[in-house]
Amino acid sequence: MSEMRYGRVLLKLSGEALMGERSYGIDPAVPERLAAEIKPVWEAGVQVAVVVGGGNIFRGLSGAAAGMDRAQGDNMGMLATVINSLSLQDCFEKAGMDCRVMSAIEMRQVAEPYIRRRAIRHLEKGRITIFAAGTGNPYFTTDTAAALRACEIGAEVLMKATNVDGIYDADPKTHPDARRFDQISYREVLSRDLKVMDATATALCHDNHMPIMVFDINRPGVFLSAVRGESVGTTVVEED
Ligand code: UDP
Repeated sequence: MSEMRYGRVLLKLSGEALMGERSYGIDPAVPERLAAEIKPVWEAGVQVAVVVGGGNIFRGLSGAAAGMDRAQGDNMGMLATVINSLSLQDCFEKAGMDCRVMSAIEMRQVAEPYIRRRAIRHLEKGRITIFAAGTGNPYFTTDTAAALRACEIGAEVLMKATNVDGIYDADPKTHPDARRFDQISYREVLSRDLKVMDATATALCHDNHMPIMVFDINRPGVFLSAVRGESVGTTVVEED
């Protein structure tokens, strides 16, 4: 524990991260690999909360673009996050880690309802706690759910795991000369409209002094390095 910088962290995984090489759904090898990434951190006694998106299955905005009622589509998106959360729970448990799923939409047969104090208790008891169903409200994203839950449970940092190794001043896929920031302020993320997290999530972190770390989850050992406080990817912090 001593070499760990953080004692309680919230890890945000996008739904798309679970697809692996597929174009839809879950590649079972990915949650297995994520379990192996998280295990050394968990074994070191760090309290790990997880929020996973649902974009590998359904996004409300895509439904709305196809003519569906937005709130209806968002409800479908939130249910997609529950499917992903259960998949992660299965892999975490198979890897020998205690894990609970708490859902913002009540469905007691498959997951506990989200109750903040109970969530903190689970974390204190060393259970990986997955927050499913986003915020429970349409018109939000799971990035905002991650920011909200990180604040509520008193996480020291929100770790956003992506497929890119940090925040760049332009899209590194289309701009080979794009520059990566080691550190950047919330204000700059918002004013430059850098697509790290949506503006609601970034503003919530800013208002509540929640640092955000952004890194590439495909790099083996990156989560452990991040929790040790090593410089991985980009950190979003207050301006001086
Ligand atoms: N969603 C929602 N409210 C929330 C969180 C998510 O309505 O609080 C819906 C929304 O339709 C979103 C979908 O769930 O598109 C999946 O979440 P998200 O797009 O954030 O997943 P990710 O991009 O991380 O895979």
